[in-house]
Amino acid sequence: CTRCFKEVQEEEKSQMVSNVFSSVASNYDLMNDLMSVGLHRLWKDRLVSKLSPFPGMKHLDVAGGTGDIAFRILETVNSIRSRALQDPCYDPLQEETEIYVCDINPNMLNVGRKRAIERGLGKDKSLIWVEGNAEALTFQDNSMDGYTIAFGIRNVTHIEKVLDEAHRVLKRGGRFLCLELSHVEVPLVAGDRESYQYLVESIRRFPNQEKFASMIADAGFRKVEYENLVGGVVAIHSGLKL
Ligand code: SAM
Repeated sequence: CTRCFKEVQEEEKSQMVSNVFSSVASNYDLMNDLMSVGLHRLWKDRLVSKLSPFPGMKHLDVAGGTGDIAFRILETVNSIRSRALQDPCYDPLQEETEIYVCDINPNMLNVGRKRAIERGLGKDKSLIWVEGNAEALTFQDNSMDGYTIAFGIRNVTHIEKVLDEAHRVLKRGGRFLCLELSHVEVPLVAGDRESYQYLVESIRRFPNQEKFASMIADAGFRKVEYENLVGGVVAIHSGLKL
């Protein structure tokens, strides 16, 4: 029946996504640099600067892969903290930062753990690696100050479920931020379309900026907005849980 067919298709999609990321895990970071000519680093910096991390925050980075977003958040928090430590009135014991990296793929998380060690963050207790599905998070309601998802939501089977879960786990006043490949404002040259068929197809299927913003609002977020980077090659959507 149609329903069974749809379920099989969805199961196949999530299996395919899982296989893709298992096989690329060890080369994922190199691939990212090559495909975006290093620009993904600037886009991720922008995402984290919009988040405005703070010491003591509870943050969840979903589809966190090899830790790129979590490392940036933690390094920002650590630098704010080390400046604050120079103030004699500052009590570092009052804050316990927790940054969760949640990903469905254990291979990506393993590469992330190794990278944390290389970056000198291996012993930082604030960094917590969790295997989990963005569509059914194991975190408690109203438990997070921030939620990020970078280049992850395009791969999931049900975008609405991911947004509902993001809204559920955030505290009131918590920020949702999503960095994703999006719809360019300038038309692509015809030849490009064939060369990047798979990528173009997955972007085409993903809702455009306005539509995605309305899906975020439908999940209950307020003050929903987005910023296009490089003419909409990527966009950062944000929302607030009030
Ligand atoms: N956020 C990282 C970054 O920007 O470098 C990784 C992005 S990578 C393109 C996509 C990640 O999404 C992969 O690590 C993959 O395992 C993860 N992923 C795919 N489907 C997922 C799901 N349903 N729940 C959690 N993670 C998922």
